[in-house]
This record gives sequence, structure tokens and C-alpha cells, in this order.
Amino acid sequence: MGPNEIFAIMVIVMAGMFGAVIGSFTNVCIYRIPEHRTVVKGHSMCMTCGHELGALDLVPIFSWLFLGGKCRYCKTPISSRYIKIESLTALMYMVMAATHLSMFLDPMEPTKNLFLFIEICALFILINIVIVAMMIMKDTGSSMYRLAAAVGVDFAVQIAARIMPFLLSGYASNYTENPVSSDLPHYLGKWGVEILAGAAIGLAACGLAVLISSRPKDLAKYFHDSKMRAFRTSDFFAVVLCACIGIIPAIVAALVYMFARILIGSGKNVRHLGIALAAGAAVGYFGNAVYLLV
Ligand SMILES: [Zn+2]
Repeated sequence: MGPNEIFAIMVIVMAGMFGAVIGSFTNVCIYRIPEHRTVVKGHSMCMTCGHELGALDLVPIFSWLFLGGKCRYCKTPISSRYIKIESLTALMYMVMAATHLSMFLDPMEPTKNLFLFIEICALFILINIVIVAMMIMKDTGSSMYRLAAAVGVDFAVQIAARIMPFLLSGYASNYTENPVSSDLPHYLGKWGVEILAGAAIGLAACGLAVLISSRPKDLAKYFHDSKMRAFRTSDFFAVVLCACIGIIPAIVAALVYMFARILIGSGKNVRHLGIALAAGAAVGYFGNAVYLLV
């Protein structure tokens, strides 16, 4: 093995470790956000016996394997969700590193490589945000998590288009048009504007929908009533979705979502919201894709 091979293996292993840590943090978000707990500090503990977990219990992937999927202290089986999310995230980063080795080995174009790396990491983080939203919805009994799964798959396809342009050249060329321009402000600006404007559109639509669909005296309920949790989750997800799919699809998705939210009001059937959001996103997304193709 030459120095390049050793370097390549090191890069892939480090990418996997980085991904496992991101996956571990994703798990923390899934369990703490619904309980209104902070995700940046505080100790993790066993869900069953409440024993505080030590450093050896918290090594992503390996702790779960080493302990046979059981709590070290009370032997209660631990959900396999932890290791699934950690290893999925680790795998994403390892595949990315393995398919972009030239990016790490080529000293000629450091800036180009850095920004390509940042773009792919940004997409990966969006996938993890979607996983968080999806699992919280599943845990709070909303059926919308299937929609979230669909969005996650879509991001995976977009990433595949970036990772394997030689396999998906037609699709990739649409999404990687001017991907790493030497004009850095333009490149950063394009992504930044898409994400920020999409989020702003989603936020505005959700805020407007909440305002119109609630009587003024009920507004406080939105933030305090635990029965509104499913609505808060769906609103949060609407914003994430809008931020992720780009400006034009976001406008369509936000409009459809807003009307559905107003029609449903603070009523019961949140399921319809999911369908509305999915429909809006699909119409906007594919409409935009068709527009780009013709
Ligand atoms: Zn325990």
C-alpha cells in the first residue's frame, strides 16, 4: 500500500466517525426536542432505569454493539433505532469520502474542493433534520412521518446525483449547473438564498395560517397546549420542507399547506395536513423540474 492508499483509508474512516457522531446527535435531538429539553448539554440516561450513561455507553455504534443492544445497568433492550441512525449517517459520509477521494488528494483546487465538500455536508445535514422531524412525528402519533421519509429519499437522490454524476448525468446536470463556480459569492449566495428564502416562505405561511385559523384568545394555546403538539410539529416540518426544496416549489408547497391549515383549523385530523403538504411539495417540486427541463 502506497501513501495515497493509506491516506484514502484514513479519510474514509474519519468520515465514518464524523458521520456516526452526527447520527448520535440526531438521536439526542429526536428524544429531547419533544420534551422541551436542551440538546447541547446535560447527561444522557437510560430510558428505563434512569441510570446516567458514562463515556463508554455513548460511543456511537460501538457501545450498542458491545452491550448487545441492552442497557449496561438494567439490561433492558435499547431501541435499534439508535444504531440504525448512527450507522446510516456514518455510511453516508463514508460513501461521500470514498467517491470524492480526489477531492482530498488533489492539492490543486483547494477552494473548489472545500465548497463541494460543504455543499454535500449541508445536504447530509438536511437529511438528518428530516430524520429528526420524521421520528418526532412518528413518536407523537402523526402519520406524516411517511411524507418526511419521502422527502428524505428525495434528498438521498439529490445527493446521489452529486456523488455519482457519471451514473446520473442527466439528472445531475440540472442540479449541479454551475456547481463550483470560481465566483464564490455567487455559489454560496445561490444556496443561501434558496434555503433562507424557502424557510422564510414556510415560516410566513405557517404564521399566517395559525393567525387566520385561530381565534385570538386561542393563540396562546398554540404554544402551551400539549394537544397542539402535532400541529406545532407539522408547522415545523413545513418550514424545514420549504427550506429544503427551493424557492419556487416552496411557494407552492407553502400555499397549499396554508390553505389546508386554515381549513382544518385547530381541529383533529392532522393527517389531512400531511396530504396537503405532500401535494403542495410534489406539485411545486415537479412543476419546477419540468420548468427547468423545457
Ligand atoms: Zn437501564
